[in-house]
Amino acid sequence: MTRLARALCSLHGAALLWLAYCAVQSARNGATWAVLLFAAASAMTVIAVIRETELADEQRAAAVRAERLARLRAHADELNTACCEHWWTALGTDHDPTCPNQRRRHTA
Ligand SMILES: [Zn+2]
Repeated sequence: MTRLARALCSLHGAALLWLAYCAVQSARNGATWAVLLFAAASAMTVIAVIRETELADEQRAAAVRAERLARLRAHADELNTACCEHWWTALGTDHDPTCPNQRRRHTA
């Protein structure tokens, strides 16, 4: 979760407390319509926190997917630059006798 998301969740929590306090005060004064209104607004802050958490989870999952994809691409690039099987197993020190790079290396 980012710093901004944490700050937003804190603000939503503070709003929830304030709205709950307002709902209680409205109930003490007998304003039923206001209690319902404050309770509904309190529910909205809870929904906002849930949504913020969900968004943070999705962002984290996307970052993990991007990192995996980058690693796979790097590995695929590594495999694409490999010359021949013998070159791969000899850690780049020697080529297959049939490898075109074998001839190129000898002529160079
Ligand atoms: Zn080779």
